[in-house]
Amino acid sequence: MSHTAEIVAVGTELLLGNIANTNAQVLSQALSSLGIDVRWHTVVGDNPERLRQVLDIARQRADILITTGGLGPTYDDLTKQTICAFFGRPLVLHPEILADIRTFYEGALHVPMPENNTRQAELPEGCVVFDNPVGTAPGCAFESGGVHVLMLPGPPHEMSTMLQRCALPYLRSLSKEVIVSHDIMTFGMGESSVDQLLEEEMRQMDNPTLATYAKPCEVRLRATAKAPSRESAEAMLTPVVAHVCAVLGDVVYGVDVRSLEEACFLALKARGLTFATAESCTGGLVAQRITALPGASQVYRGGVVSYWTSVKADVLGVPQALLDAHGPVSEAAARAMAEGARRITGADLAVSVTGAAGPDPDERGVPVGIAYIALAAPEGTFCRRMDAGRRRRDRIQGLAANHAFDLLRRYLTGLPITALDATHP
Ligand code: ATP
Repeated sequence: MSHTAEIVAVGTELLLGNIANTNAQVLSQALSSLGIDVRWHTVVGDNPERLRQVLDIARQRADILITTGGLGPTYDDLTKQTICAFFGRPLVLHPEILADIRTFYEGALHVPMPENNTRQAELPEGCVVFDNPVGTAPGCAFESGGVHVLMLPGPPHEMSTMLQRCALPYLRSLSKEVIVSHDIMTFGMGESSVDQLLEEEMRQMDNPTLATYAKPCEVRLRATAKAPSRESAEAMLTPVVAHVCAVLGDVVYGVDVRSLEEACFLALKARGLTFATAESCTGGLVAQRITALPGASQVYRGGVVSYWTSVKADVLGVPQALLDAHGPVSEAAARAMAEGARRITGADLAVSVTGAAGPDPDERGVPVGIAYIALAAPEGTFCRRMDAGRRRRDRIQGLAANHAFDLLRRYLTGLPITALDATHP
């Protein structure tokens, strides 16, 4: 049987706009990976009457109800009391949880436990307790009249920890089926083109399903199968993933990798190669993205943010005559920047980016959205011209950084690096 869920975030701060409801986002992503349809996100203030109204509606339209927030010890933390009163469950004191909370205060925080924290050790009778190793408020789950109610704390790191350790196993146990997904990652084709190529299949598929998600500058396709076992789900997915990869060709940069930079990182590591960067309009974005990955030092030597023309000349050794003749946003400059970065760092490969990110054209009149991305390798230097059009500055920078990683991964996987004029409709 498939389940439907409603996520109820409790907190007046959320309604006032003081904080964003990131818990709902994290929960929705986790639930969708289990094949649970999240149908509603509700936000309600710290007000028992309004929470009761929300519960009344939610239990009629969903069979899984997950609350976050309002489990603390203070007078306005009313979630547990209100839910217990609504579902007719008495609250009972759990001495072992009280002992844990006392230990948390005395052992980790070195202060005596405030007496009102005793309330946090009271949980609905007969519930499954979700312990909280990173905070004090435990969560819990119980079933009432076919509705599963899960209560999680508000602080995002406590919520996420409890979700992974306790709530997801609880939710998984509600279904006899397993859900398996694979993400097919693409760069270089717009969402509508991907859609056109696979529209018919996507419409006809029921299990497995195939859906597209447009990330900024990229398209992710998720193939998902529901089956009695992981093995049978995998067997259903294998031909689908192979078909999608065959239809889309070399715009697919990986299956179940998280990003272009991760694809590059893995390919560089596998071949024992290192790279370096020379960036102008991306201001270090390529360097930032690769160094965000743990272990990046195995593949990344370093880079230069050569924003001023003088830095391109003095640090990277781009000849001044070349810059005067072609301008800093040019194929010649991009090639020389990549070669300079490779030379001064001693890396096997180097990528460079120089372009006009806007909002104004560069001083020589290069239109906004144009960038040159080069890759210097032992065999020679490759260059791509990107035309991103009049997009927002950060989008142009993101796209240019993606092209830098795309050149790198194409080189590393032996794909042709055409002197492609990359446009983005
Ligand atoms: P505590 O024991 O800290 O009181 P709690 O379970 O009672 O935890 P709240 O008091 O409702 O949780 O929220 C604590 C903090 O957690 C809020 O100040 C806010 O920073 C964060 N928070 C609460 N709800 C959300 C949410 N839905 N999304 C993101 N952050 C949230």
